[in-house]
Amino acid sequence: MMMKGHAILFVLIGLLVSEAYSQAPDKSEKEVASLRLEISLLKNSYRQLCQKYRDVAANCSVPDFQCNECPDKWLHVGDQCFLMIPDRQDFATSAQKCQEMGAHLAILNNREEHDAVEKEGRRIAGFHTHYWIGLTDSETEGQWKWVDNSTITTPFWDPDKNEPDNHQSGGPEGEDCAVVNSYSQTWFDVPCSFSYPRICQMKASPIP
Ligand code: CA
Repeated sequence: MMMKGHAILFVLIGLLVSEAYSQAPDKSEKEVASLRLEISLLKNSYRQLCQKYRDVAANCSVPDFQCNECPDKWLHVGDQCFLMIPDRQDFATSAQKCQEMGAHLAILNNREEHDAVEKEGRRIAGFHTHYWIGLTDSETEGQWKWVDNSTITTPFWDPDKNEPDNHQSGGPEGEDCAVVNSYSQTWFDVPCSFSYPRICQMKASPIP
């Protein structure tokens, strides 16, 4: 089985390398191909280390350690996966589209998760620096809840703009949905009918 796994890996490496060179790549394309190769090798090493840990840990009393992974292109933070999706929709449609992927709008429970998504947002966003997160007070004004009905544990509301302010400029219904602004690195409440890109989230899959 191990030989078969290695054979497949070598074929994949060969395909990556041949694909990279068949298009006469410039310097940055070569670097991308090289980094992709490095990532796939690291993923393989990670899986092998997890297996080794389980084998050794089975013979002694050490805490369980669950290795997990995210689908390609998803950010891996702790035991969670996040994906920034540039398609601009209102809050309800965005929440539904995350669900259709087997995910939900992002629920940011700690600084690690907040920092990871706002940093990734800043890296890829260009001019679109606001992303829907799964936070709303549409049920009861002022009572902010995540889409799983939990309450905020670590808030990152913008202090300079005194957010959330339920501002009426977008309409008399105020602002009942939240975005993360990846430039100010804080949250803002905005009208739920506005269109923004979104952050979907799902739990990382345990490596068997
Ligand atoms: Ca509100």
